[in-house]
Amino acid sequence: MQPSFSTVTVLDIPFIKTTAAKFQETLQQRILTQQNTFVVTANPEIVMYAHHHPDYQQLLQAADFVTPDGIGILDGAKILKQPLPERITGFDTLIDLLQWASDHHRSAYFVGAKPEVIAALKHKLPQDYPGLVIAGLHDGYFKDDSAIVADIQRTQPDMVFAALGFPKQENFIAEHRQTTKGLWMGVGGSFDVLAGAVVRAPQWWQKHHLEWLYRTLKEPKRLKRIAVIPHYLHLVRQQAKQQR
Ligand code: UDP
Repeated sequence: MQPSFSTVTVLDIPFIKTTAAKFQETLQQRILTQQNTFVVTANPEIVMYAHHHPDYQQLLQAADFVTPDGIGILDGAKILKQPLPERITGFDTLIDLLQWASDHHRSAYFVGAKPEVIAALKHKLPQDYPGLVIAGLHDGYFKDDSAIVADIQRTQPDMVFAALGFPKQENFIAEHRQTTKGLWMGVGGSFDVLAGAVVRAPQWWQKHHLEWLYRTLKEPKRLKRIAVIPHYLHLVRQQAKQQR
C-alpha cells in the first residue's frame, strides 16, 4: 500500500503535508513498483505564475505530488493556519534520489541546463554516484525534443530529471511522462549546483531561512523573482479571510 499524503492548498495548489524523509521513502517505493510519478517542487513564484496561467495551474494540479520548495510556501500555510512540517526542496530530493540510485544501481536520465554544465555532470556524476546508471544526458537548449524523448523511450530510466526552469520543465514532463513507468521531476537550476557551476547558500543562510537572500545577493537578476512575494502573501491572506 502506498501512503498518500494529506495536502494544504495554497492559492489553488495542493502541497503535500509530510517530511522530506517520508516523501523520499514514498518516491523510492513508487520507483520500485514502477508507478509513473510526476513531482513538482513549487515556490511562491511558481504558485503566482500558475495563478495567472490557468493551463499551467491545471498541469500542477494533475501532478502526483507538489512539494513546498521555498520558505514562502511554509509562510503561506502558516497564514492559512494549516502549517506544513518542513521545506521539501527539489535539490535535496534530487540528491537523496541519486544517492539511493547509486546504492541500488538504479538509472536516471538528465535533461536540462547548458551544454557545458551537462559536460561537467557527465564527468562528475560517476565520481559522486558510482553505482548510478546514467541512462542519458542532454542539455536543455533544444528546439525539437523528439530525439530526446525517443532516447528516454529506448532507455526506460527509473527517473527523469528535467532542469529546464519553470514552466518549461513541467510542460515537458506533462507531455512526455507516459514514455516510462518511472519518476519525472522538474529540478530548476539543480544541475548547475550539482556540476559545481552555482554554489548553494551555506548552512547558516539555509537554517535562518535566508537562502533566497543569499542567492539574490549573488545573482541580483533574481530580484524580480522575489518581487512577487508581497502580492503572493496578500492573496494568501485573502484566501485565509475567505476560509474563516
Ligand atoms: N534552462 C534550460 N533551457 C532553457 C532555459 C533554462 O535548460 O531553455 C536551464 C538553465 O540553464 C538552468 C535552469 O534551466 O540550469 C533554470 O534555472 P533557474 O535558476 O532559473 O531555476 P530555479 O532553480 O530558480 O527554479
